[in-house]
Amino acid sequence: MAADRLAEYRRMRDLTITPEPSGDAAEPHDRPIFVIQEHASSSHHFDVRLEVGDALASWAVPKGPSTDPAEKRLAIRVEDHPLDYADFEGSIPAAEYGGGSVIVWDIGPMRNLTDDGNGVILPLDEALASGHVTVWFEGEKLRGAWVFEHARVGGQDEHWLLIKADDDGADARRNPTSTEPRSVLSGRTVAAVVDEPPDEADDG
Ligand code: MN
Repeated sequence: MAADRLAEYRRMRDLTITPEPSGDAAEPHDRPIFVIQEHASSSHHFDVRLEVGDALASWAVPKGPSTDPAEKRLAIRVEDHPLDYADFEGSIPAAEYGGGSVIVWDIGPMRNLTDDGNGVILPLDEALASGHVTVWFEGEKLRGAWVFEHARVGGQDEHWLLIKADDDGADARRNPTSTEPRSVLSGRTVAAVVDEPPDEADDG
């Protein structure tokens, strides 16, 4: 149930202060989506989220996703987020959890390609539990398959690796997290959102 999956999200935030969505009115998308949000908090990172059932499974990726299959990016699993977080942009007050600005760096439909080892697609929730997820992104900036591996880097249970699959979307020369900094929803850079009051920043 959504209430259970979002309990940690709600416990970590004061929703009367932060402009982040409560998730109360969240509806599933017609096709499951992925979203990547750039988050200029005390430690700048990219949040990669996958629509799995009634919430967004989420990872904080310090360096962001790479288009180079040779790059393994650390992806730290964090609490599930509400489905309506997917189009959230705004400025979280500095004193609050995750204080700092957020933009939607890329968003689009997603297809689950996770193979169960016998040529059958494993449902996403089972794929997550198995620690191996392969998803196809149809974003504006990112296209192709990415693999999430529960590698427990450094013995940390929340540490996964995010790796580009070697397909037509792979390109070792691209560095879109640096060269394509603007929100695909508002055209703003994360720096442009910094001093905006929450009411202005919330795109509703
Ligand atoms: Mn974040």
